[in-house]
Amino acid sequence: MDSSPRSFHLSARTQALDFSGIRKAFERGAQLKDPINLSIGQPDFPVPSLLKEAAVAGIESDRNGYSLTQGDGAALLAVQEHVADDLGSAFAEDAGIMLTSGTSGGLLLAMMALLDPGDEIIIPDPWFVAYPAMARVCEAKAVPCPLDPDYRMTAQKVAPLITPRTRAVLLNAPANPTGVLPTQEEMDALARLCRERGVVLISDEIYDAFVFPDGLDEQGRMPSPARNDPSVLVIRGFGKSYGCTGWRLGYAAGPAPIIDQMRKLQQFVYVCPPTPLQMAIPAAFEVDLSPVVASYVRRRNMVMEAFDGVAEVPRPEGAFYAWVRVPEELGLTGTALTELAMQANVIVIPGGVFSNADTHIRLSYATSEAKLAQGLGRLRAIFRGIDPEKVRE
Ligand code: PMP
Repeated sequence: MDSSPRSFHLSARTQALDFSGIRKAFERGAQLKDPINLSIGQPDFPVPSLLKEAAVAGIESDRNGYSLTQGDGAALLAVQEHVADDLGSAFAEDAGIMLTSGTSGGLLLAMMALLDPGDEIIIPDPWFVAYPAMARVCEAKAVPCPLDPDYRMTAQKVAPLITPRTRAVLLNAPANPTGVLPTQEEMDALARLCRERGVVLISDEIYDAFVFPDGLDEQGRMPSPARNDPSVLVIRGFGKSYGCTGWRLGYAAGPAPIIDQMRKLQQFVYVCPPTPLQMAIPAAFEVDLSPVVASYVRRRNMVMEAFDGVAEVPRPEGAFYAWVRVPEELGLTGTALTELAMQANVIVIPGGVFSNADTHIRLSYATSEAKLAQGLGRLRAIFRGIDPEKVRE
């Protein structure tokens, strides 16, 4: 038998992708001893017992086979009621709804349903790492919309980027990596622009459960472009909200003709989201997340205080990330600053992972307040030009 290593033809689509920079930072951090990890994009609390019990009951009661492609009836109904309650009947009345394999599953199916090779999708810059990769998988072009300096994705910023090849605009609010949340008026204007120009507005609302009081409207509701426009495609997940990112559960709601195509694709790609875990969905909407939100607000405030007078940070109104600009006088890229942080045993992610510009770091404050305080102290010192070896004590 020929023992020389075999070479394989690999598609251009896969070869164009690189492993996620977040994963790389994660692997790099794994070499540190007892690091202060401010890189993790998942909540730091256990899954609420109500959800765990419902999922276990799902397994125990032999709900382990396929569910309907669009999701189990009871789970789907719970989502339908939640969407109507949360986004209003104007949106929910005619909306198609389906459960997805995480938010990522919903996003990929949406892009597959909407984009042909060569088509364009406008994404925020900085972006969530999967956006350009998913567009690439669809052989479409992700067109970055620079959100600097206030990081709000507004109609004014998006309008000049729309071309005859644009099929979709992707909004993420509250955003990863900035935590920024535009107002309802700003979102309405963006939805109007998309409607007028015949492009679909996809709203990635994975952090909808973590909107801070200063981001809510007068009625205490989170702004969403879907609230006043049924042509918006909303994609949400359960992983971040309930600390169960490994369960791979999400949902998509929006124009029925789009959801129908996504359902067809789901049938052939994911088949269905994990059935026994879907059993936890009705329980999810019963859980009071306000203590978690309150703790993220406290940590957001700690971050803002730590960088006050040291670095520019757009004020997060949701999620659990902060986007910190490396001051020009340091003469460092985000990657170089990340390396210095590593020397002080702190893991953060370089801005270059989320943007072509490598001018920031992203930190996640989904960690204990004690660890966060320690990490912020070290970062603040590094941002003030102090040698990282001296800030470890
Ligand atoms: N969208 C954004 C903005 C995210 O930050 C993430 C996860 N970090 C996802 C989508 C994917 O989430 P899921 O694990 O539900 O697929």
